[in-house]
Amino acid sequence: MQCPRCRHENPARAKFCLECGQRLARTCAACGTELPETAKFCAECGTPIYATTPNEPRQYGIRVGTVRQRAELKPQRQGWFRSALDWALNIESLPRFPKDQTR
Ligand SMILES: [Zn+2]
Ligand SMILES: [Zn+2]
Repeated sequence: MQCPRCRHENPARAKFCLECGQRLARTCAACGTELPETAKFCAECGTPIYATTPNEPRQYGIRVGTVRQRAELKPQRQGWFRSALDWALNIESLPRFPKDQTR
């Protein structure tokens, strides 16, 4: 299993990266509970891990925080664009911090 932070290749069952300590286990984005690979909902808080439609081609809505491969899964389009807030469309010029604002 490749670490999403440092790209180190870890053993398949590793819960944390051997190189940088990044948590590797799949977790609920809402409550942090560790989830089995096949979970569709969080066993602790009931949050859906993904949503889908019966249509073909099938589309999936996923919570990015639950996916180890999130760095590779780049957005392909934007839904609900009509109601997007103006400020949300241009945040490139905002000050950036490696972690939170105090570090
Ligand atoms: Zn790592
Ligand atoms: Zn949860």
